Amino acid sequence: MSARDLIILGCSSQQPTRLRNHGGYLLRWNGEGLLFDPGEGTQRQFIFAEIAPPCVTRIFVSHFHGDHCLGLGSMLMRLNIDKVKHPIHCYYPASGKKYFDRLRFGTIYHNQIEVIEHPISDEGIVHEDDTFSIEAYYLAHGVENLGWRIKEKDRIKFDKEKLKKLGIKGVDVSTLKEQGTLLIDNKKVELSDVSWIRPGDIFSVVIDTLYTENAIKIARDAKMLLCESTYLEEHAKLAKDHKHMTAKQAALIAKNANAKKLILTHYSARYKDLQPFVKEAREVFANSFAADDFKRFDFPL
Ligand SMILES: [Zn+2]
Ligand SMILES: [Zn+2]
Repeated sequence: MSARDLIILGCSSQQPTRLRNHGGYLLRWNGEGLLFDPGEGTQRQFIFAEIAPPCVTRIFVSHFHGDHCLGLGSMLMRLNIDKVKHPIHCYYPASGKKYFDRLRFGTIYHNQIEVIEHPISDEGIVHEDDTFSIEAYYLAHGVENLGWRIKEKDRIKFDKEKLKKLGIKGVDVSTLKEQGTLLIDNKKVELSDVSWIRPGDIFSVVIDTLYTENAIKIARDAKMLLCESTYLEEHAKLAKDHKHMTAKQAALIAKNANAKKLILTHYSARYKDLQPFVKEAREVFANSFAADDFKRFDFPL
């Protein structure tokens, strides 16, 4: 089975620090590499993380503040050098098209890869295939900023023992899956008699926003929520003034959305130690963790 994990390539906010690069988050899932908000230096962070950039299939830019997109041009350049054969889908708020173009075509560039742009101007589903659906919703950050909700399709799983018992195998299994019923020895077998539905997992990203209802919508029942916590509660006023959240607010979103796991990120450079973020969040939502550069979080089945 292919990798299923979240790799933190950077976790700073506007200003990187010696220990924390501009943000960058790679989710490896079902053979795809979903790269969120490639900040400055993301290309090099891949090298430190010992991950080959060609695994990237989709790039998401939440908004066009520099810490969320300055690495876009160099990532595309890198994928170009690596001559990736698959298309690279890029999702971003349509109002930022001019910034996207500047970042994409900012240098001398002999483009050989296929970049498919998805400028988003309407909330809701922005992509759907047999594996995933991707939804985008606006957050509250003073500029157009999108949060992402990615849901794996529900899958039918067969109970092998029951199939064996009824003597259903080979092409009969496909027929049962397609038609919903099957006649075996004049006895009707329903699909639900021998199978169950594995609900698809949900991964949600909420970065750069005030506490907002849409963040809860994005994070609803998520298996993993990657959420900004730029500040601690002691600086709640700063958080509000700069349209960001505290660790406690991030935890409230996870709790109110019934998320299963919270990964905090996008810390202000004023904080050296990340433990207070975890402590503050865990008082509200126990399964909270702090992102840190090159940390890897499993996203198991
Ligand atoms: Zn930011
Ligand atoms: Zn921002």
